[in-house]
Amino acid sequence: MNEYVSGVLDDLKKKYYWEKEFLQAAEEVLESLTPVVERDPKYKAAGILERIVEPERVVSFKIPWQDDKGNTRINSGYRVEFNSAIGPYKGGMRFHPSVNQGILKFLGFEQIFKNSLTSLPMGGGKGGSDFDPKGKSDAEVMRFCQSLMTELYRHIGPNTDVPAGDIGVGGREIGYMFGQYKRIVNRFEGVLTGKGLNWGGSLVRPEATGFGAVFFAEEMLKANGTDFSGKRVMLSGSGNVAQYAAQKINQLGGTVISMSDSAGSIIDENGISGERWEYLMDLKNNRRGRIKEYADEYGVPYYDAKRPWGLTKADVALPCATQNEISGDDAQELVKNGVIAVAEGANMPSTPEAVEVFLGNKIPFGPGKAVNAGGVATSGLEMSQNSMRLNWSAEEVEEKLHTIMVNIHRSCAEAAEEYGTAGNYVNGANIAAFKKVADSMLDQGLVF
Ligand code: NDP
Repeated sequence: MNEYVSGVLDDLKKKYYWEKEFLQAAEEVLESLTPVVERDPKYKAAGILERIVEPERVVSFKIPWQDDKGNTRINSGYRVEFNSAIGPYKGGMRFHPSVNQGILKFLGFEQIFKNSLTSLPMGGGKGGSDFDPKGKSDAEVMRFCQSLMTELYRHIGPNTDVPAGDIGVGGREIGYMFGQYKRIVNRFEGVLTGKGLNWGGSLVRPEATGFGAVFFAEEMLKANGTDFSGKRVMLSGSGNVAQYAAQKINQLGGTVISMSDSAGSIIDENGISGERWEYLMDLKNNRRGRIKEYADEYGVPYYDAKRPWGLTKADVALPCATQNEISGDDAQELVKNGVIAVAEGANMPSTPEAVEVFLGNKIPFGPGKAVNAGGVATSGLEMSQNSMRLNWSAEEVEEKLHTIMVNIHRSCAEAAEEYGTAGNYVNGANIAAFKKVADSMLDQGLVF
């Protein structure tokens, strides 16, 4: 790390010492950018690093709502509008008790680079609330979403900031938020993505993050002369990303041997496919049950409070649950168990220690901002369809998604090579993404 980069990082650590996840994400990106700022002094001269690590705007507000018993409840809501150099702020809303401003800054910061990699005109943003949808009735979720949007609507818009889903925010929540936005502004417009198909949504958007992650992993395998056929694939999570990653892996001939939720993991040596995959979809999306019920249904082992990483042998690992879910020790277990590629479906699921283990062992490692960019890319395609007022077929959308993922893989690989770290997708993703945003900031002058 050179003096300019370490100076920016030190200042950030002093200023936001309690925002652990944000500092972790910033450090990873800034470290990768050292050769870029050394090669081209224009970035330092314009203070690009100092500017890119600060959100352009952070909105924080309270969300009062009433539960089914008539009790008053209060949650915190946020929208981090991080960077608009290449397009309107774009990024999901997360509803989870762990949400705070630091977590959303980490996600918003990552989103700047992810969105840049898609090659679509989208800036970086993220939002959410510490509300926990688990165990809430539909009516409670609706009242909460309506209250949230009653404040959020004034900060967003189709050309300003376009939120989407993330952990805890799926089709149901997007529906309630969209309905309230439309009611307040009296306009039917593409202010959110992940919408229902009947009211402006895109085919393949629900599948996009999982499918895209598998397309990226497939490119990583191809670069090493192999593919998914016959591979044992370990997944974590059992939400949106994990569900459709599983479906695509099955289509490509791999076997999905694990899934998890926040309570524990299952191992199914038969593979989570066909009727078993359908059961999982119903369990998680309709009955909103726990992964343990899958183990009870099919008589497979369930590991309470455990992540899957050390539980059995695997060829490929796709962490698809949440941040920091692979520790350095977990990574060692994966390496010991024969993993030949790791692709992050979730955002920053690997701790810095885990990344070090993968890179140190020359295991191809795809970082979340590249691997899971298919979700936001397809959100971008949803915005295009809304603007054109037409709908593409599922085949058209999937084809475009596939092309985008192949291109992201290529630009990460090329940037890594250009800056002397061939095969390092972390550096490649950060460098390729940064240059486009930074050059746009230079073009637009000192506005943020
Ligand atoms: P979902 O809410 O649909 O699923 C999340 C899954 O992860 C659930 O199985 C959940 O278990 C588990 N999980 C959540 N928090 C924890 C935790 N603290 N410890 C262990 N397990 C946990 O979310 P998504 O599938 O949409 O998102 C998964 C990841 O992918 C996130 O990192 C998200 O930011 C990222 N991502 C999502 C995109 C999308 O389009 N949806 C786009 C790009 C990235 P439980 O049900 O028990 O909470």
